[in-house]
Amino acid sequence: MRYKIKCSVCGQSSPSLLDFRCPSCDEPLCVRLHFDFEASKIRKSDFTVWRYAEFFPYVEEMGIVTLGEGWTPLVKFSDNTFFKLESLNPTGSFKDRGTTVLLSGLHELVKEAGGFISEDSSGNAGASVAAYAACAGLRARIYVPEDVSGPKFNQIQFYGAEVVKVSGGRSRVAEEAQKGEKGKFYVGHILHPLFRDGLRSLAYEVVEQFGWHVPERVYLPVSAGTLILGVIKGFKHLVASNAIETMPKIVACQTRQVSPLYHRFKNLSYTPPVKVVSVADALVSVNPPLLDLMDKRLMEVDGDAVVVEEDEIFSAFKELAGKGFLVEPSSAVAYAAYKKQLKNKETSKDEKTVIILTGTGLKTTLKPN
Ligand SMILES: [Zn+2]
Repeated sequence: MRYKIKCSVCGQSSPSLLDFRCPSCDEPLCVRLHFDFEASKIRKSDFTVWRYAEFFPYVEEMGIVTLGEGWTPLVKFSDNTFFKLESLNPTGSFKDRGTTVLLSGLHELVKEAGGFISEDSSGNAGASVAAYAACAGLRARIYVPEDVSGPKFNQIQFYGAEVVKVSGGRSRVAEEAQKGEKGKFYVGHILHPLFRDGLRSLAYEVVEQFGWHVPERVYLPVSAGTLILGVIKGFKHLVASNAIETMPKIVACQTRQVSPLYHRFKNLSYTPPVKVVSVADALVSVNPPLLDLMDKRLMEVDGDAVVVEEDEIFSAFKELAGKGFLVEPSSAVAYAAYKKQLKNKETSKDEKTVIILTGTGLKTTLKPN
């Protein structure tokens, strides 16, 4: 077997690609890889995530559901600073990497059972799952908070997903989405191991686009943790396969309001705000279920964590737009964190740096002036 799906805590194997929690202890599942990354197995003429199809062994060739995600531009911003434009994925965010792998892995199983998928997200993940379900000819039901509105919610509905509004806070929305119902298969992006696994394609791409060199630092925004866990896993796989020699320094970037990982990583206590009102409105996980796992992985790879203030985020957002990069404010958090570390001399302009710009600014609800 080239892979196993195992519990991140007790190690028990899970028999089904449809499982999203350990059957014994209910903790998150992870995909474990039992093969090396080999550059010779890349499909050089495929400019999507699926140029790495060989490295996602649980997906059958015939099952691939793609909208052309991945192989996003890596653009030079200054001498040693590069932006990875994840905002240019088909639905406007990096989430498409996870969704293409998730749905490619299990849409046939759901169809065979005559079922439909459910997800809880009124944001980029909801839009991404709705789009790929539409592409796969699969029914999707997206659970959202009752007061939701805005461009991302419109996007979910345009893709034709069924929407269920739930009152009583974010955790109630997740409960409803997971609640057992005949034919319903929960594919929540935060918990589902295949979604997270799809994000390792980002690490492969960065290294390949750099001609098999490793950047010294990678900055990325962190909320629920799928991006950081996927990216760390991809780089670790490359190191373990001797495709690269060292890990880059992974820098987790959070907002002051939503910074549970930063606080845990720095051994500080964290009190979340009663209500998150940050301009970085995609970063909302004040109590992420994957926090233990994120902290552990970030320690193992000797990463770092930075917290940024509202004014720093807004000014980073405007600065990026002023240079032609209209990203969502949540993506500007990574650039704000980079600038903060530059100012504090925790990094320098000599270090080769990649900043992941996770989502498009075309979905923002902000108004100019
Ligand atoms: Zn377990």
